[in-house]
Formats: sequence, structure tokens, C-alpha cells
Amino acid sequence: MIDIVNSIITKVTIDNFPILIKRDDLLNKDFSGNKARKFYYFFKNDFPHINTIISYGSNQSNAMYSLSVLAKLKGWNFIYYTYHISSQLQKYPNGNYKEALANGMQLIVDENFDLTKLILQKDQLFIDEGGAIQEAAYGIKILADELKQYVQQNNIKKLEVFLPSGTGTTALFLQKYLDHKVITTPCVGDKEYLKKQFYILEHNIQYHPTILKPEKKFHFGKLYKQNYKIWQNIKKNTNIEFDLLYDPIGWQVFLKYLKYNYKPTTTYIYIHQGGLLGNVTMQERYIYKYGEDI
Ligand SMILES: *Cc1c(COP(=O)(O)O)cnc(C)c1O
Repeated sequence: MIDIVNSIITKVTIDNFPILIKRDDLLNKDFSGNKARKFYYFFKNDFPHINTIISYGSNQSNAMYSLSVLAKLKGWNFIYYTYHISSQLQKYPNGNYKEALANGMQLIVDENFDLTKLILQKDQLFIDEGGAIQEAAYGIKILADELKQYVQQNNIKKLEVFLPSGTGTTALFLQKYLDHKVITTPCVGDKEYLKKQFYILEHNIQYHPTILKPEKKFHFGKLYKQNYKIWQNIKKNTNIEFDLLYDPIGWQVFLKYLKYNYKPTTTYIYIHQGGLLGNVTMQERYIYKYGEDI
């Protein structure tokens, strides 16, 4: 049986800033990134009465793919609802969609899907969109413990942690279990949306991460040349491939933060949250829109 183990921490330099990268993209070949952390609770514990995972969301979501891996590992069925699928994707499956289907995902396309009308059987486990669930705390606490151990072993005085947010679940639980400052930025909704997300998962605002706003509003999943450029630059500078949905926004915000707030006595770490399978799709879309020499 596979398991995920303490992921390595790499040192890089970007814009002359020394930055550590927590390589959660390398946790495991199939079960990696923050989705592996968020779903680790289900992976690690026994649920004899469960035989099916039910979830819903976008048809290219990283969470969908990771749930398909989880279901396969557990020997469970996986039923996933999505509102829409393009005929293009149906004809030429790729990325998370293709691999989730290969793992046995049963996709139900229903433009009228209504969560409040979903009736669960006793043997079905429901996982909310993007894995915004309390159980995510279990695996993210392990990530926090790995960072604490690194701080201790390397005699780090002050650490600041940065990671971009979707539902905000990873950033929230990381801050809850870590005595160091956790900073994030919203990539899906705005700052108010992210605050609400934090509050749903944790009422005590002392545990909420610091939110920095992106310079401009990016619509989630939309293509921005500036995002592709920064993604390419980071890859060239570090030899590390990051995700194309969240990380370009993450890096823009983080580097600007460092530009104005960097202190040599502070150690900075960026959490690589995986999601690379989705890059296949994103890169195709970018090249289709802007051409090969983008
Ligand atoms: C899902 C995902 C996120 C967002 O995680 P949240 O816990 O929902 O904030 C960020 N980066 C990558 C690569 C992801 O796959």
C-alpha cells in the first residue's frame, strides 16, 4: 500500500530572494499536492460501512482527480456530478478528466444538479466541492508538523508561509496548527469570499491566515498572458513546475509581498500544492489561444 511521506524542502532564489519550497507535488506519484493532504483522513482510516464517494464540481478539478485516486485505493466507487461538459472534452479527454475516468469515476452531467436535493445512502460518503471539509484538518496538521520539525532542525527563528487559496481550506488549517504566520491570496473568489470560507471551517478568527489581495481581479480558470509568463519565469528560475491555475497568482502576490516586506532574518517558504496534471489542459488552452511562442 502506498503512503505519503514527509515531502522534501528545496531552496531556490527568485528575484534575489532566498525562498524555500515545500514539495508537496512530490508526495506520491498519484496521490499528491494539497488534495492528498485534505483527503488523507479517508485514506488512512477504515470506513467499513462505506463503498462509494459522492462529490461534485468542475469537470477538470484537481479534487475530482484526487478523489478518483482515493476511491481506487480504497476499492470504492466514485460518483461525480458536474453541471456541464463540452463536446470537445468528451471527444478528446485530457488532464484530470481523462485520468479520473481511467480510475473508474462515474461522471453524471446534470445542469440542474441541486446539492440540497441529494439523498445519500448509508454506504455513501459525501465530500464537498474542492474538499472544503473539516476532515481535511487531519492531513494538513501533518503538513504543519513537518514544517515545525524543519524549523526546529534548522534553527529557524522566524518563518513565514505562503500558499495560494481556492476554498482556503489548506491555508486555514495550516494556520490553525502552526505558530508561524501563514499568508495567502484568493484565486477563486475575492477576499470577502475567502474570509467567509475561513469562518465556515473555523469560527475562531485568531486561527485565520493573513489575506493579501491580488493586484487585479483574475477570473478563475480564465487565461491571462501575464499568468503564463510568470509561470514560465518561475519554472526557468527554479526548474520546478508549478500549477497554472493558482500558482501564477500566488507567485505574483508573494513576490510583491517580498519586494516590500522582505527581512533577511525571516525565512520564507512557499507550499507547492501539486495540481500538475491539470497543466496539460491549461497549457493546451494557452497555446491554442496565444500560439506556440507565447
Ligand atoms: C486545490 C488547489 C488549491 C486550493 O486549495 P484550497 O485548500 O481549496 O485553498 C491550490 N493549489 C492547487 C495546485 C490546488 O490543486
